[in-house]
Amino acid sequence: MMKQWILLFCGVFFLLGCQNVSDIKDEGSNQNSEQKTDNKSETQNKDQSHSEIWTNYSDYAKLDQDGFAYTMVNDPDVSSEILPLNDSARNVVLFTFDDAPYEPQSHALQMAQLMKAKDVNAIFLVNGMYLEGEHGRKIVKEIFDMGFEIGNHTTTHPNMRELSYEDQYQEIKKTNDLVEEITGQAPRWFRPPFGYFNMDTFNICNELGLQLMTWSYGYDWMEDYQDATALAQISVENDYLRNGANILMHDRVWTYGALGQMIDGLRENGYHIVDPKIIKARNNIIME
Ligand SMILES: [Zn+2]
Repeated sequence: MMKQWILLFCGVFFLLGCQNVSDIKDEGSNQNSEQKTDNKSETQNKDQSHSEIWTNYSDYAKLDQDGFAYTMVNDPDVSSEILPLNDSARNVVLFTFDDAPYEPQSHALQMAQLMKAKDVNAIFLVNGMYLEGEHGRKIVKEIFDMGFEIGNHTTTHPNMRELSYEDQYQEIKKTNDLVEEITGQAPRWFRPPFGYFNMDTFNICNELGLQLMTWSYGYDWMEDYQDATALAQISVENDYLRNGANILMHDRVWTYGALGQMIDGLRENGYHIVDPKIIKARNNIIME
């Protein structure tokens, strides 16, 4: 109960535009709490905008094996979720992993292997600081070659709001270049550390062809859920699990431990874990 109030408190601060982040240790707090109050209006917005989005992307031909395609719907102060571009009766979630390939010890490759064995795909968002040595590069290359998408999570994991335009640009561009050098393909997803960004971040993402996204919910950064069983349970049974949810995870050992149970649990609850390749990245027009 106490945690709920703390989350709500953080969310209110976020809504008020508070830029002091010294009390927030990692990403994940704002999205969960804000959705408490915004669930209803967000659902209404989704219904209203569906036909407009479909019109914009009706030429998008990349469908999955069941004939579905999705787009990322970005209301970044609240969440970034995925929405079907065509009529889909199934419930979907998206898996996204930040801070890869984490040092001193990465579990990203094992997570990719586990997901591959269970026919699940995901986006791994990398930090350029972990790609300076051969070890990190090799992990990312292997994950990419297995069919996973590689996204950009900055170079040094800063709070982007505290940086100048030029410094933000370097943070994003350097990692973009590293990913392209390693995989041969520039990223199309960007997630700001802690979910903190400003208009400069948006403009840079637009310039570099990146889709900025936040997330719907994620618990593996919280102390109480740095345990595989607890993490799997909260990730499968919580109020924010709904169609289109973008599930934030990190390259950590307890997340690796929870992943198999999470996949099974989500599937038992009727959710399909969507292949990010069929998600159409959308320009950040909402903030322009
Ligand atoms: Zn991060």
